[in-house]
Amino acid sequence: LELTLVNTRKLIDDVIPVLKQQADQKGIQLIIDNDSEIDFLADLNGIKQVMINLVANAINYTPKDGRVTLNVKEEQDFIHLCVKDTGIGIPKEELPRIFERFYRVDKARSRNTGGTGLGLAIVKHIVELHKGMIEVESELNTGTTFHLYFPK
Ligand code: ATP
Ligand code: MG
Repeated sequence: LELTLVNTRKLIDDVIPVLKQQADQKGIQLIIDNDSEIDFLADLNGIKQVMINLVANAINYTPKDGRVTLNVKEEQDFIHLCVKDTGIGIPKEELPRIFERFYRVDKARSRNTGGTGLGLAIVKHIVELHKGMIEVESELNTGTTFHLYFPK
């Protein structure tokens, strides 16, 4: 873990172009909501990886014409990062397992996306290294929202 002052706007500017292209290709609207520019102590590459993994999932598990929103804001002593999609959702009973290594919700539905099931395990690991928190809400066929909180 290499802590440096990370600027939220610069962070977003760095990771968004390639994700924007993925979203465009799939016909998904990617909305970036980052009203305030904040500096906080974090591992730059770790935080980039977290954003990429979460937004890539949101794009992968959302059908065409859907919407993915990335929101970064300051909340008391935390940086709150939120990734919301209008995708296929995750069944309630599966939610406790999605952060396990190699776990994929349903082989049939995720076969064509060709992932390994490591993305969220990596996200959880990086969040824990920062002593942050992660929460997920999901509704089947409606969408999923991940909330991450990093101490400033
Ligand atoms: P990769 O290693 O390429 O990321 P993956 O996307 O399958 O592969 P994870 O990112 O760890 O692996 O996600 C685990 C599983 O959780 C996915 O296979 C998918 O079933 C489910 N999942 C993750 N994010 C979402 C989402 N935004 N909407 C619906 N299901 C999701
Ligand atoms: Mg993934």
